[in-house]
Amino acid sequence: MDKMSKMPDKRGRFGSYGGAFVPETLVPVLRELEKTYRAAIKDKTFISEYKNLLRDYVGRPTPLYPAERLSSELGHKIYLKREDLCHTGAHKINNSIGQAMLAVRMGKTRIIAETGAGQHGVATATAAARFGLQCDIYMGEVDMDRQSLNVTRMELLGARVIPVKVGQKTLKEAVSAAIRDWVANSGHTHYILGSALGPHPFPMIVRDFQSCIGKESIMQIKKTEKKLPDVLIACVGGGSNSIGLFHPFLKFSPVRMIGVEAGGSGSGLGEHAARFSGGRTGILQGTKTYVLQDEFGQIALTHSVSAGLDYAAVGPEHAFLKDAGRVEYMKVSDDDAIAAFQILSKTEGILPALESAHAIAGLIKMAPSLTPKSTVIVNLSGRGDKDVEQVKKFLNKNLRLNAFPDDVSNAEFSPQSPENQIGAYSFA
Ligand SMILES: *Cc1c(COP(=O)(O)O)cnc(C)c1O
Repeated sequence: MDKMSKMPDKRGRFGSYGGAFVPETLVPVLRELEKTYRAAIKDKTFISEYKNLLRDYVGRPTPLYPAERLSSELGHKIYLKREDLCHTGAHKINNSIGQAMLAVRMGKTRIIAETGAGQHGVATATAAARFGLQCDIYMGEVDMDRQSLNVTRMELLGARVIPVKVGQKTLKEAVSAAIRDWVANSGHTHYILGSALGPHPFPMIVRDFQSCIGKESIMQIKKTEKKLPDVLIACVGGGSNSIGLFHPFLKFSPVRMIGVEAGGSGSGLGEHAARFSGGRTGILQGTKTYVLQDEFGQIALTHSVSAGLDYAAVGPEHAFLKDAGRVEYMKVSDDDAIAAFQILSKTEGILPALESAHAIAGLIKMAPSLTPKSTVIVNLSGRGDKDVEQVKKFLNKNLRLNAFPDDVSNAEFSPQSPENQIGAYSFA
């Protein structure tokens, strides 16, 4: 069983997934990164500097919060791992800080990164500012329009945001542009990839930097419950917050793990980002994994109300864990995620990121089928302030803004009626 925790192998494979499918010029660059990383995690000075920054700068450990009202609603003991309370509002900073430290260790003076909604861009611009590194963030022009506040945040943090004007002008093109820059400038530039994706060693490095989530959770739950949790639930975009929670628990076989993907607005290709229900094996941006693609292997368009989950591929370790049956994957729709956003806001006074709302929706959907009185940890990967406009637009469009019942304790999690299509409790 514990073989699973030891992956990837020397070639960066998780079973048949992962690896490094990159242009020849990047091979030595990735080797240098791996070598630096392996030495750094054996270096006590590096580890203690990283831990101190997590504590004093990021604000770790984040609380493991017993969500009492949600628990009594759903009939289980539910804990929320509060990554939304991290500096900059999500888990991404755990990775950005760690990789910025690796950049310094390699003597690099410039950081580049890709960003979709801007969350990883903000986290990376923050880390770059903290270490006095030059920072360029690639962002699709369409995303820059949609997320202009995050563009301003990055600029205020001293980063330059470079618009990407090709293709769909969104995340996938931004990743390609960042890789191209890296190939040309790797002498003084480090590329901080934002999720457990891309060529080896990134999926391993990002996972390890995010594993503080799971390690803290083990200590915290043992203290409060005197036992391990029964179930873990997290949303899966590229897969970094989920693998960060899951990985330290892999060796405990009774712990059930559920990853939640973006079911979007429908099950047709282009309407969602559920790689495990609509995708098949392929190679995208350096790694072999489940990829959403058409019959000719062209990368499919994706859709989700949540920008952070809206990507055609998933981290290779998840592909392995899916095939091994160790982690279960489900999808929830835009509607269900918006409903879960409202439920958490009104029952616990916490506005979740729309990504994290997918995990909450997964919990609500699974709750009736879990063993009664299960102890569940849901990873609340980020806060929802960034999504307020988006939620408002969505609800207005669906004429549901004021249709949410005030008294949640009287409401039922029941199948939706035709006139209640976006009803807050409609988990058919
Ligand atoms: C980016 C993001 C995600 C999705 O990325 P993962 O790598 O799958 O964790 C989830 N939640 C929040 C708040 C994010 O910003």
